[in-house]
Amino acid sequence: MANSSQTKIKHCPDCNRDFPRSPEFFYKAPRSKNAFQRRCKPCHNIKTSEYSRKRNPPKIFGFRKLNDNVKRGIIEGLEEHRTKAELTRIYGIPYGTFMDWQKKGEIEEYRRLEKLKSALTNQNFNNPHIMV
Ligand SMILES: [Zn+2]
Repeated sequence: MANSSQTKIKHCPDCNRDFPRSPEFFYKAPRSKNAFQRRCKPCHNIKTSEYSRKRNPPKIFGFRKLNDNVKRGIIEGLEEHRTKAELTRIYGIPYGTFMDWQKKGEIEEYRRLEKLKSALTNQNFNNPHIMV
């Protein structure tokens, strides 16, 4: 019975070439029964770097770190019922990042804080004598 892990030659599906089944041409795959990675070393390196680029796109961290105009723009946009796709496009924010802020409630938290601040300011402004 031919077991593929025992053959001397290993085929790389990416570059479509055959290599000796050895650590010289293939990385070890510790969690695989098939002792080596599926792809040859150069192809494996290409795939790994592509993968990590996809996994780590440039990110804007934290809604609060955006400049005030953008924060206000986004909040107004949400209140005007603009779609997330629209807002992320307008402000050049990765969609996933935006979803993350919403999930963590960062936008909502900021919105509430701003409402509170403006309520306090308006109160002081409209009723200057109350505070005296
Ligand atoms: Zn290859």
